[in-house]
Amino acid sequence: MKAAVLYKAQTPLVMEELDIPEPGPSQVMVKMMASGVCHSDWHVVKGEWTHLPLPIILGHEGAAIVEAVGPGVTNVVPGDHVILSWRSQCGYCEMCQVGWPALCTNIQYPKERPTLRGSGTQINQMVGIGSFGSYQIAHESAAVPIDKDIPFPQAALVGCGVTTGVGAAINTAKVQPGTTAAIFGAGGVGLNVIQGCAIAGATTIIAVDLLDFKLDLAKEFGATHTVNASQDDPVAKIKELTGGHGTHYAFEAIGLVEQPFIQSIQCTRPRGISVWVGHAPHGTPVTIDARDLMLEKTVIGSMYGSSQPMVTFPRLLDLYKSGKLKLDELISRTYPVEQINEAFDALGNGEVARSTLSFE
Ligand SMILES: [Zn+2]
Ligand SMILES: [Zn+2]
Repeated sequence: MKAAVLYKAQTPLVMEELDIPEPGPSQVMVKMMASGVCHSDWHVVKGEWTHLPLPIILGHEGAAIVEAVGPGVTNVVPGDHVILSWRSQCGYCEMCQVGWPALCTNIQYPKERPTLRGSGTQINQMVGIGSFGSYQIAHESAAVPIDKDIPFPQAALVGCGVTTGVGAAINTAKVQPGTTAAIFGAGGVGLNVIQGCAIAGATTIIAVDLLDFKLDLAKEFGATHTVNASQDDPVAKIKELTGGHGTHYAFEAIGLVEQPFIQSIQCTRPRGISVWVGHAPHGTPVTIDARDLMLEKTVIGSMYGSSQPMVTFPRLLDLYKSGKLKLDELISRTYPVEQINEAFDALGNGEVARSTLSFE
């Protein structure tokens, strides 16, 4: 197999030849068909996320074909098409048992890993998937079977950005028809929060970003209004657009700095719900005025769109097939995996909604 490996933060990824182990008990070997390039990968490259061990095969948004299964695997057979879930689950802990497998407290990552050809050095896999590799080993709970008529790049995006964004609106916030919502950040995840709010029936959907290009995209995904935060105060503008009340829901889908997290509380109305979707760098403080919460506002984080991947992924694909969920429009560019560093440059420059990688 080949894979793009990160050896050190703030250095380019390096293409390597690796050997892959046979799948062990409860493991599957997959042939990667497409991988999205997500901001979370970029956080690791930039050195903003330091909790993942290096060297590492990044990538956590993959669609694949099952190549082989280990002993005891029952949910897939070789030849099945799958989306890889980056929250593999044990099935038995409290969170799994009460229906929140994305919050599993006993996540199952394969112990055997791909090794560098020649040296035998084990290379880590990002979140038990490492979708920047042409083959991978994953826990069977991370392999979610899907219909074979779904194109792989579109399927890959459901593995992270789509589920995270649409799920935050539908599952975490439970957006109600006829309501108002503000979304801070119209990137790969934010666009999906926007279309999630639209699918759920919100009638005023306000996108906030710094780039007009992204605000134009936001309108394609269902935003009814846009605010360029480099020109207008987003909180004042959102209040103005909602009759002075503020929105029922607000979503922080950037995860870089403090201010949008605070604004996502300030722009909601009494009993408003602020959902924090963006994964901020470690040690990002958010300081709010305690009185901001006195009007019974709720602040809640959203992990993987509060999803149940085995249920959520096929449902999202059904929405895609019925024309209600936009996936084709999310894919701005496709690169061969060898050009991963160019794909990161495009992401860093804000040139793309999403790029996907192909594997020859
Ligand atoms: Zn992601
Ligand atoms: Zn569990």
